[in-house]
Amino acid sequence: MTAAATALPRAILSTDADIKRFLLGGNATITVLNTETGERRTIKVSCKRDKVDDGWAIKSPFFVNVMTGSCNEEHFTYTGLVPSNAAKTGDKFYAYSPKRGGARSEKAGQGSTAFKWLWSLIHGRNSNGSARTPSDNHVAAYSNLEIWHEGRCGCCGRKLTVPESIDRGIGPVCWDRLGAMGAR
Ligand SMILES: [Zn+2]
Repeated sequence: MTAAATALPRAILSTDADIKRFLLGGNATITVLNTETGERRTIKVSCKRDKVDDGWAIKSPFFVNVMTGSCNEEHFTYTGLVPSNAAKTGDKFYAYSPKRGGARSEKAGQGSTAFKWLWSLIHGRNSNGSARTPSDNHVAAYSNLEIWHEGRCGCCGRKLTVPESIDRGIGPVCWDRLGAMGAR
């Protein structure tokens, strides 16, 4: 099997609003890339949901996991959570800290820090909670920052196919549901 046959249609999410919507889709995987240093952190944000008539009801916080294995292993480590009503609670992120004596891998710690930074950024804040200079699009201030989705719908995880779906990271059916739910 060639790489081309299995490649998923990854794309860059380039606005605060697109990134936030994608991250709260319920089944989102992003890669945060620093193009200057080549550093990358792959982060999965997901929640439990029930299907309802016009979409879904969120039944848990959004669990934040960071990839800590090699890319091929896809091994993720839990690193904290965002409240289930995150659309209203803004930039809250509760980083998991291991109990006394517990160990946390360096990679998990770095991923947690990266997520906290990004989650704060798209809400117009620094990691310490202080407000940034008001802007319509805070991610645009970082020319060395790229936020990639991995080619799967941020809501249902299906492979994306339509160009406009690939642009926003959300497939047509889930996009309509988000509309019905007033979530976009
Ligand atoms: Zn979907």
